[in-house]
Amino acid sequence: MGEEEDTLRAKREAQDKYNARRRERRASISPEERRARRRALMERCGDKIRQKEKRDRERHKEQRARQYAEWYLRNKEKVKQYAKERREKQKEQMKIKRREYDLKNKEKIATRSKKYRDNNKEKVLSLQKDWRDRNPDAVLFHSRNRVSRKRANGGFVSKEDLQEIMGEQSFLCVACFSDLRKATPHLDHIMPLSKGGTHTKDNIQFLCAPCNLSKHAKHPLDWIIEIYMKENS
Ligand SMILES: [Zn+2]
Repeated sequence: MGEEEDTLRAKREAQDKYNARRRERRASISPEERRARRRALMERCGDKIRQKEKRDRERHKEQRARQYAEWYLRNKEKVKQYAKERREKQKEQMKIKRREYDLKNKEKIATRSKKYRDNNKEKVLSLQKDWRDRNPDAVLFHSRNRVSRKRANGGFVSKEDLQEIMGEQSFLCVACFSDLRKATPHLDHIMPLSKGGTHTKDNIQFLCAPCNLSKHAKHPLDWIIEIYMKENS
């Protein structure tokens, strides 16, 4: 027993001495010199060193795997939390990048979308139909409603017709005489479509946005009376 302990102690002492000598040698050389030596050594026998390192890795593979597994079990929650945070951060960054890209490439995207719509007319139509089926309330206020009512009431007005009407109005709002060229003019059905008016040239006039919003779907007489009362109150 005593002998064995003695050899062990002797071994440890020898190792300590060796380590101390190594430390001393290392300290006596500058970092630059150390790096230069390392480079020279790697040039001379890099292959051998790399092979040895690989062998060592192989030899201690199981031990390292076990160490990692133990560490992982101890820090499982931390690892999970960290992974989750990283995923969320990445998601957020992707969103920001995506928004930046969309902003920078507005026109390109619009052109691409139009091309896609043209090439996939049926698919797009069916997607639109799905959306309408899922959002009946929104559809109620959608302009398609007006389009279908226009069809039901009958009538067709060409672009030229609209230009002619605008010319007859001298580009002035019929109600308040403001210049319609300053903002987007609103097409108004004198007798509202909802009250049986037709989408024909004789039932169309242009209003400025505020006047059109105040008229909305009122009977034209009601609206004129309302304006008259407002002006003379
Ligand atoms: Zn007006």
